[in-house]
Amino acid sequence: MRRPVSATPLSGGSVGEAHAATRAVRAAIGSDREHRAVVPPLHLSANFVFDAPGECGRYDYTRSGNPTRDHLAEAIASAEGGVGALVTATGMAAVTVVTQLLRTGDLLLAPHDCYGGCHRLFRAESARVGFEVCFEDLSTEAALELARRRRPRIIWLETPSNPLLRVTDIEVWAGVAAEVGAVLVADNTFLSPVNQRPIALGAGVVIHSTTKFINGHSDVVGGAVVAADPGLLEELAWWTNCLGVSGAPFDAYLTLRGLRTLHARSALHEANALAVVELLGSHPLVERVHHPSLPEHPGHEIARRQQSGWGSLVSFELAGGRSTVDAFLGRLRHFSLAESLGGVESLVAHPATMTHASMDERARAVAGIGDGLLRFSVGIENGDDLVADVREALDAVEAERPGPSAPARRFHHEATSLMFSSAVGPRSEGDQ
Ligand code: PLP
Repeated sequence: MRRPVSATPLSGGSVGEAHAATRAVRAAIGSDREHRAVVPPLHLSANFVFDAPGECGRYDYTRSGNPTRDHLAEAIASAEGGVGALVTATGMAAVTVVTQLLRTGDLLLAPHDCYGGCHRLFRAESARVGFEVCFEDLSTEAALELARRRRPRIIWLETPSNPLLRVTDIEVWAGVAAEVGAVLVADNTFLSPVNQRPIALGAGVVIHSTTKFINGHSDVVGGAVVAADPGLLEELAWWTNCLGVSGAPFDAYLTLRGLRTLHARSALHEANALAVVELLGSHPLVERVHHPSLPEHPGHEIARRQQSGWGSLVSFELAGGRSTVDAFLGRLRHFSLAESLGGVESLVAHPATMTHASMDERARAVAGIGDGLLRFSVGIENGDDLVADVREALDAVEAERPGPSAPARRFHHEATSLMFSSAVGPRSEGDQ
């Protein structure tokens, strides 16, 4: 395999020491030496000319390497603080690449409430390859004990988890992974590197569905694998090329364009999400709100430590189950009922019948995914419009319900700022 991951930076100016927001905006800007284009050109070519038989330049064939895809890979690796990254066709392709590290007899330890597609792939691959997969609540002491006893080959984290936003302590799991010789993999899709950088906390690999916040416009499906170690990066790069799951150049081009605005978008996402959380927490139709910004959220303190922002996914449970859910969804105007998350537009999902339908009923019950649960991906529309929309829908459904209203429960926010300051975040910028 030839150079599927760029070893040398392509960017025109030296931005290596700059803030992550600057690096994202300026990734590969001015790198076109031939025409001096400011924005790097899109290289759609499937193949590249050889100088002589067996003698090619940096690229030979786009499955193995492509300049446009490399620009994105370098930008994502830089954002996550890894030694390099692989850009894949989908987030599930990124997950597939990492599962290639598992052999017959190995153990994969994964969260019991991981993304439904990962749950399905892990079960299918474990049956096919003959590795064991153990789904556990990774926030418990029992799970840490199990890892020490059973010595998994891979420990998979998804924090905050989907859809209940449970928070797992990455540093604690990094310690256990080091003890037992496991690769610690963190799915950082829900927060993006703006809000959490697992490699700085000890993870060996970070994966992304770039479909979500990194692209941010719900018009590309893609994924990425970032590694902290060059040997692991090379092994994963080999598999990406071998399986043929590398991302298309055009998708990479669009995704890099999305990444340039990730920091600016994240601030708006978070401000709107906090306003929506506040409203949900004060409404009698809402039985529970799941968001790490809430002090009563079980992962609040860990989130304060390891995240640099609260994130804009918000889950909540409506009183009255499925019929209330249907009535509420029918009244929302600014939230589209759709899968996915992290785009500029606000979305609402019903996990039991949508994102987590591939989990059987028992697994959903264990993971706490009931019929009354909804998940918002709060977008960057005007925040007052979003809050008014949710309030009006809740009020209307509440007014139609039989019987007296339950007393409103209050949830108090600590989080008034858009982002955590570096003082409460896990690491300052300079520590990357
Ligand atoms: N990981 C998480 C947390 C996800 O939410 C998703 C998709 O929703 C994936 C991985 C898979 O990504 P993709 O849909 O891009 O294949």
